[in-house]
Amino acid sequence: MNKFYITTAIDYTNDVIHIGHAYQKILSDALARYHRLIGDKTYFLTGTDEHGQKVEKAAKAEGIEPKAFTDRIAAADQAEWDTLNISYDRFIRTTDEDHKKFVQEFWLKVKSAGDIYPEKYEGLYCESCESYLDESELINGKCPFHPTKEPQKIQEENYFFRLSKYQEFLEKYIEENKDFVIPENKRKEILTFVKSGLKDFSISRQNVKWGIPVPDDPKHTIYVWFDALLNYLTYGVEKNCWPADVHVLGKDNLRFHSVYWPAMLKSAGYELPKTVFVHDFISLNGQKISKSLGNIIRPKELVDQFGIDGVRYFFLRFGPLASDIDISFDRIKEVYNSDLANGLGNLVARVSKLCQNSKLEFVAPEITIENFPEYNKLLENFQVNTALDFVWEIISQADKYIENHRPWELSGNDLKEVLTKLVEEIRKISLLLNPFLPETAKKIEQQFKGPKVKSELSLFPRLS
Ligand SMILES: [Zn+2]
Repeated sequence: MNKFYITTAIDYTNDVIHIGHAYQKILSDALARYHRLIGDKTYFLTGTDEHGQKVEKAAKAEGIEPKAFTDRIAAADQAEWDTLNISYDRFIRTTDEDHKKFVQEFWLKVKSAGDIYPEKYEGLYCESCESYLDESELINGKCPFHPTKEPQKIQEENYFFRLSKYQEFLEKYIEENKDFVIPENKRKEILTFVKSGLKDFSISRQNVKWGIPVPDDPKHTIYVWFDALLNYLTYGVEKNCWPADVHVLGKDNLRFHSVYWPAMLKSAGYELPKTVFVHDFISLNGQKISKSLGNIIRPKELVDQFGIDGVRYFFLRFGPLASDIDISFDRIKEVYNSDLANGLGNLVARVSKLCQNSKLEFVAPEITIENFPEYNKLLENFQVNTALDFVWEIISQADKYIENHRPWELSGNDLKEVLTKLVEEIRKISLLLNPFLPETAKKIEQQFKGPKVKSELSLFPRLS
């Protein structure tokens, strides 16, 4: 049996997640469900990143302890993911005891490899990224991801990680392993960054109390990024499923995952993840979704309007999201009505009605996922949108078949033949929809498992 270990980025707990985070989780969920469907032993990890200054401040503003604060946010995040049927195997929190212990052990491994040393640091720092900024990456003197925030000048003694030692290794590794970072434009981007020269980076803080203490120098806490990246390994080592087959993440996390993270792993003697799969961002009505812009929408609000599978379908339609895209409620409704209400929903309703009226019985044929090599290949390569095209092609062919054969005018063996063919197509569709629209797939399967096929309520009522 193959194993498949997939992770999402873990969300920062200074606020509850919003739909800007939803794409990545739905995409990862579809891939995890696909691998379960083909029989892989699948491990799907998501969770929350809970330490650091921003959380410390947000908790203080409410006058509560950071842990009480993150307990609330983590529970709310988890509820949002449950609303979207995200089938994670573990929801890891960086405040979990096993993780904290693992991070400290890992620190000591890196230290004994000679890759941690103390040094005075002076430089610019973006509080929102919780990351130091290099002069070269500033845009108009500001963080590229936080153009409205003034970077802070910071001076303190920190522990540093000897990233520069891995310069040659990383350059060669990223150059030779074409699948290590996808898509290709992101691999090129990161290769250019590595070639420009890697500097050691700070991995501890003195003035941030809300963090995991450095094991042999507890007046320092471990830098939130160093701590957070390790969540993948905490679970991977525990379940014996390391290395990750794929880390799914947004482009703002690219550098941490494809440069810092592999160097940390190499230092401590662990294998590298097989693939870092990077996506761009989704904006709403032409604006980046963010708290400061006040255009936050939680996944649940969308689910209330379009249903779980309506929301999942819409996001998955964007596939690997290789560039930024803009969405609007009108657009979601349009796609819902055309593809789900008129497309899939209408086909299932028509065929089930014809079958019920015919009073015929339909024996379930053996359909297995191995029968669809093209579909399998697409999903092995994360092409969820094209895999959906493949399914929707079957839907449109079935529609054409109905128009051409006009089953409502047939009887006897002719009718049986036409309906049997249609029932088979719908059983295929329900099998292939499993990773994307799990609830819908299950409903169709129930309806069409035979021998009798019953007409049921519409799967996707048309929205006006
Ligand atoms: Zn920033």
